[in-house]
Amino acid sequence: MAGAGPGDPELLTLKTLRWLRQADVVIVDRLVSREALQEYTREDVLIVPVGKQCSDTASTPQSAINDLLLQYASQGKLVVRLKGGDVSIFSNVLDELKTLTEHQIDYEIVPGVTAALGAAAYAGIPLTARGYSTAVRMLTHYKSTLLDESYLRDLARTDDTLVFYMSSGNLDQLVEKLLQHGIAADKWIAVIEQATTPQQNVHHYPIHTYLENAAGSSYASPTLIIIGKVAALHASFGWLPNSNSREHYFTPLSVAGADLYNNKKSPIC
Ligand code: SAH
Repeated sequence: MAGAGPGDPELLTLKTLRWLRQADVVIVDRLVSREALQEYTREDVLIVPVGKQCSDTASTPQSAINDLLLQYASQGKLVVRLKGGDVSIFSNVLDELKTLTEHQIDYEIVPGVTAALGAAAYAGIPLTARGYSTAVRMLTHYKSTLLDESYLRDLARTDDTLVFYMSSGNLDQLVEKLLQHGIAADKWIAVIEQATTPQQNVHHYPIHTYLENAAGSSYASPTLIIIGKVAALHASFGWLPNSNSREHYFTPLSVAGADLYNNKKSPIC
């Protein structure tokens, strides 16, 4: 189990790199850099794309991913299960770990740079800058029933930095809720598309002006949202210019496949 980092292939750890170089099989999520897969794997590696890969709607059921892990491991192959960002943040790693332990298959867990850390660094936002925030929370609001009113009230009032994964589809509603619950006017919001990739774009507003400036926006996937006083620091410390591109960095493997995987077999798409 290894994290690939948020996009920039150079954010892969040396340990993940070492495992990738040895792997017979790499079972890979969509949010993993194609460049990293191409550069850092063996010529004869078998790359198995899973998750929302083959099209935007088709996604591999978790049970099928578990079966793939078992199938290749029981053939004695060295399998790297490569996940975007860190292996444990908003992922189904627990299911996969249970499958491996039930079948007594040895594994190692290699962490990765999670999107919150990659996006914060590449947008120039120190997540717990002294004098701004003493904590950071990793959250998701991908459906509105996930966070109840009392928790949303707490989010509006805390000075912790809030980082939302998988939440750009519900962003207007989230901001509305935070405003209703009295979020302070010195809080900012940074919406970071395709962080750490050549297509990175940061959209940046005082939270009280977000809805008048950006309600109804649709963002390129993947998108991470940072809310808090620290988000204002992007204006002074952002160092990477916006690409202003709407191109997608994480293309499904079925699209990228033919050219990228000349010698690398990909059995699913
Ligand atoms: N395990 C991953 C997160 C998986 S959930 C990690 O640790 O980063 C997928 C969500 O992560 C996306 O919807 C998005 O909110 C966020 N994400 C992942 N990569 C990203 C990137 N390069 N830029 C912005 N957000 C990203």
